[in-house]
Amino acid sequence: MMTAQEYVESLRKLNTRVYMFGEKIENWVDHPMIRPSINCVAMTYALAQDPQYADLMTVKSSLTGHTINRFTHLHQSTEDLINKVKMQRLLGQKTASCFQRCVGMDAFNAVFSTTYEIDEKYGTHYHENFKKFLTFVQDNDLTVDGAMTDPKGDRSKAPSQQADPDMYVHVVERRADGIVVCGAKCHQTGSINSHWHIFMPTISMGEADKDWAVSFACPTDAEGMYMIYGRQSCDTRKLEEDASIDVGNPKFGGQEALVVLDHVFIPNEYIFLNGEYEFAGMMVERFAGYHRQSYGGCKVGVGDTLIGAAALAAEYNGVEKASAVKDKLIEMIHLNETLYCCGIACSSQGFKTKAGNYQI
Ligand SMILES: Cc1cc2nc3c(=O)[nH]c(=O)nc-3n(C[C@H](O)[C@H](O)[C@H](O)COP(=O)(O)OP(=O)(O)OC[C@H]3O[C@@H](n4cnc5c(N)ncnc54)[C@H](O)[C@@H]3O)c2cc1C
Ligand code: SF4
Repeated sequence: MMTAQEYVESLRKLNTRVYMFGEKIENWVDHPMIRPSINCVAMTYALAQDPQYADLMTVKSSLTGHTINRFTHLHQSTEDLINKVKMQRLLGQKTASCFQRCVGMDAFNAVFSTTYEIDEKYGTHYHENFKKFLTFVQDNDLTVDGAMTDPKGDRSKAPSQQADPDMYVHVVERRADGIVVCGAKCHQTGSINSHWHIFMPTISMGEADKDWAVSFACPTDAEGMYMIYGRQSCDTRKLEEDASIDVGNPKFGGQEALVVLDHVFIPNEYIFLNGEYEFAGMMVERFAGYHRQSYGGCKVGVGDTLIGAAALAAEYNGVEKASAVKDKLIEMIHLNETLYCCGIACSSQGFKTKAGNYQI
């Protein structure tokens, strides 16, 4: 497994094309608006090195038997699903922000089980492709973006009916050795901070949408990939010299980007769905289910720090005993623990998929 420092250094080796305010950013790793989001992902590496968190942060790989970071794991039981939520609450407490690595973990588990069922029906080799890719991810302890949301254009129309075909990621050319894809994905959490991306469809599709029913893995710095940084409110305050107040959470932060694919070539071995349109919906539902489960952990961890900060602010102002303030803090705790219960409940009611991993 990589250390936090090794993770940060690994990003410098990539040729990721990052744009902000209409300009290409060369040293994006040290950019004051981007760095807090890198610190967050780095925490997923740092805690995995800490023996006190070994049970939550690390696990034996079902593919290789090696000890791996839980963020690259295929859930093998309901206990694994529960530990996932607990790990996310811990990370939320440590960063008070979005630590971004969950979208990849959720994509791994959704694509693993869906590719098994596609191969079962069509005799394709997507599941083997995926297992090879995930072994590479686990052995190198990589961060991977789970890319699902397309720009979508006119929401009343299917992908194949859009005036602009690029409103959904699609295949523009099929070659003997792979496919060429075009399109974009919006709001991609941790996209710039990821080593690789897994692309998936964003809605159920019909036969006419075959070219849009596509899933594949691709390095973040592949030829033809562009990242446009997603602005956050008050973000330029982080650029001010010696800014120490009114910068929000100064050390940590989330990240979203618009990812543009301009004729990106995907070799056959990285393709996980290619025209089997009736499986697009299954992939979406499984991924979305896992990601809602994730919120039962991460948002609760952030909530813990928010509630603590609110209680401290009340104390500073001498109102910690006021009943109106106490009522509000109790309501926040109630909401937070209810969310956590939902994450734990859907995990404990998990079931084994045909491929063998566990679905919420
Ligand atoms: C902070 C953040 C991080 C995210 N991270 C990721 C990520 O890592 N990966 C990823 O793939 N996605 C990510 N997303 C995307 C997220 O999943 C989408 O924003 C979400 O699925 C909604 O899609 P949309 O933004 O296109 O909105 P729309 O689909 O346009 O929805 C807008 C509104 O219209 C309603 N609506 C939409 N279509 C219809 C219809 N046909 N009939 C009636 N009502 C309709 C919706 O319910 C909603 O209220 C992220 C989003 C945010 C905000
Ligand atoms: S589950 Fe939470 S912390 Fe993880 S990527 Fe999603 S919003 Fe961020």
